[in-house]
Amino acid sequence: MMDYQGSLHKINKQISVDDLNGKVANYIPELANVPEDKFGMYLTNIEGEGSGFGDCNERFSIQSISKVPSLTLALLTEGERVWERVGVEPSGDPFNSLVQLEYENGVPRNPFINAGAIVICDILLNTLKDPKKEYREFICKLSGNSSITYDEKVASSEKLTGHHNRAMINFMKGYGNINNDVEEVLDFYFHTCSIAMSCKELSEMFLLYANHGKLLSTGEEILSAKRTKRLNALMQTCGFYDEAGEFSFRVGLPGKSGVGGGIVAIYPNMYSTAVWSPKLNEKGNSTAGIAALEMLTDITGCSIF
Ligand code: GLU
Repeated sequence: MMDYQGSLHKINKQISVDDLNGKVANYIPELANVPEDKFGMYLTNIEGEGSGFGDCNERFSIQSISKVPSLTLALLTEGERVWERVGVEPSGDPFNSLVQLEYENGVPRNPFINAGAIVICDILLNTLKDPKKEYREFICKLSGNSSITYDEKVASSEKLTGHHNRAMINFMKGYGNINNDVEEVLDFYFHTCSIAMSCKELSEMFLLYANHGKLLSTGEEILSAKRTKRLNALMQTCGFYDEAGEFSFRVGLPGKSGVGGGIVAIYPNMYSTAVWSPKLNEKGNSTAGIAALEMLTDITGCSIF
């Protein structure tokens, strides 16, 4: 049995957020208000036992981490047809790049860049009756926690400043890859990004992806083993904007980051972990988060590679 608690203790002792470079995201003004010294990590093993440190119980804006449950829900409601509207290749471009969309006729490279997640939200507006309510309920179900909800301040803040996303969605609409009203889709997309969760809650939610698509609590199969394999493959190749290669190189686990400073990573059959520190590198990934996860796979001597 791995001593995860001991590993987390070492990470907490050795990583000092003050010593690491990085800047809190400020293009969504509400995110700029988060203190830059926040740091927490939590790991839930496949038996459901958890350990954590620091600010692991404080909720933060999960931002792009929401792109994983969004895709999961789209696969459940729309099935394999989602792949007619979004690809499965790494982008190698920033998360909000317009250039690539033009080359590829409005079909986003993958569901974990902004344009791809916006198409997924457009799909969900058609497959769900009450999208915001049902999306929140889905997150609550996956994490086994009914109190998780949207941070309306973050959602409104992004609505005011989301010009890049607005440009991308209009562009895709021009190519016929958006069915609904662009403002309705954006409102839903900004809400999915504004979900607030702690590292503990995120690690519990993502255990599903380490557990062949089954909820640990009830054994209910949410995703088939095949779809779980595909989702994990996408996290591995597309989960870190144009830094997916570097993350694989340093950490060696499938994962997803968000500009709120959160990163989740899973080790199939072993654990799910989440780390939070809002200072981001120039690619938009948490510097302390990557360092902590690299230490975790180094100390335990285990990664998927
Ligand atoms: N809501 C953010 C945006 O669309 C998400 C970005 C991120 O976390 O990567 O710009």
